[in-house]
Amino acid sequence: SAGVVVAGAGQAGFQLAASLREGGFRDPITLVGDETALPYQRPPLSKAYLAGKTDREGLFLRPPGFFAEHAIAHRPGLRAVAIDRDARRLQLSDGTGLPYDHLVLAAGARNRPLPVPGAELAGVRQLRGLADADALKEDLAAARAVVVVGAGFIGLEFAAVAAARGVPVTVIEAADRPMARAVSSEMGAFFRRAHAAMGVRFAFGAGVTAIVGRDGRAAGVALADGRELAADLILVGIGVLPNRELAAEAGLPAEDGVRVDAFLATPDPAISAIGDCARFPSPFARGLTPDGTVRIESVQNAIDQGRCLAARLTGKPAAYGALPWFWSDQGPHKLQIAGLSGPGDASVVRGTGDAVSVFRFRDGQLSAVESVDRAGDHMIARRLLAAGTPLTPDQAADPDFDLKGLAL
Ligand code: FAD
Repeated sequence: SAGVVVAGAGQAGFQLAASLREGGFRDPITLVGDETALPYQRPPLSKAYLAGKTDREGLFLRPPGFFAEHAIAHRPGLRAVAIDRDARRLQLSDGTGLPYDHLVLAAGARNRPLPVPGAELAGVRQLRGLADADALKEDLAAARAVVVVGAGFIGLEFAAVAAARGVPVTVIEAADRPMARAVSSEMGAFFRRAHAAMGVRFAFGAGVTAIVGRDGRAAGVALADGRELAADLILVGIGVLPNRELAAEAGLPAEDGVRVDAFLATPDPAISAIGDCARFPSPFARGLTPDGTVRIESVQNAIDQGRCLAARLTGKPAAYGALPWFWSDQGPHKLQIAGLSGPGDASVVRGTGDAVSVFRFRDGQLSAVESVDRAGDHMIARRLLAAGTPLTPDQAADPDFDLKGLAL
């Protein structure tokens, strides 16, 4: 039998392979990945690894021996280039083809390019993989002034690391606050103050029109309002694009992510998709998107989808309904999010000062909880949201209300 072939050896692809073996799957498993390293975790790339607190080995999801031990063929440095659905073959960049019984698309996402002149100059960086992180680390060690384009999670995590090294940092953001797409304005305001306290400067409502070069290297960033900010290191963190081309070119629906059903299957029963590249229906997306589907970029989602698909492929099918959760470490602060919120969701703040949670409500129902340095609230929120336990905004706002009791 040709077994399971996985295109993409990242968090989701690795998890699927490991969970298949755990579930007793006996057929061959092949992980095809275009990176050269063993499968690794990305979160530390903008946190502990960048700050020099974790080494390369600390990133690997399993030691090298794991793959042979579990008969998982890891084929690094190879790209999947096309799917022959009729022949059930995955075409690879070295000209060979791999037959499959089941093909799993786990190709993740790539950084959205900054569409301005000068974006290709030396000193302009993006961060997605280990190679990016190594280059960025080297540049940071020599940097005299840093500009971050985009106040999203990765940009802000990087800004905090750079500021902690004493390098002047300015974050440029088109919206009027940090993490505008992902968190409430209340939580955005908290992190705006927190970053200011770390020495990070912001330019909100600002658009980048060009990267200014000198002697073939980036020397600054030109803004739409005419300002020019000097910088010898520019990190662009303006979001990602799902790697959907393999599916799209094979005739599978893949606008903004490879379309899958609640069981993570594409319309071709021999092909599934998981992780950052997949767009799926979520019970937590009700009222959030027009068709109730989402694409989620998180470790939780990659792991839980890997597990869910492995269960189906070993004869225990179940619809994917895991609660989304996420974290981001920015300087001394830990942001944790449970659930999925939209910009229109109402906010109720619990706690004061340095540690707060923002409870979000959509159509009167709890949709998400954003916590900063309140790990207890986060764990309670995960339970409440997963169980669908009713909570009113008044209860959330009342500091004497026994949230923990409600979650038990
Ligand atoms: P990936 O891990 O990206 O793996 C996909 C793999 O497929 C990659 O190796 C890619 O190179 C490869 N590939 C792509 N196309 C092909 C092809 N055609 N052929 C072969 N291989 C291919 N999430 C959190 O929850 N918390 C965090 O704090 C957090 N921090 C992050 C920090 C950084 C710097 C980054 C980049 C991400 C972070 N994330 C975080 C997100 C999280 O890492 C991703 O959601 C997760 O890695 C998704 O797993 P995946 O397997 O879908 O994609």
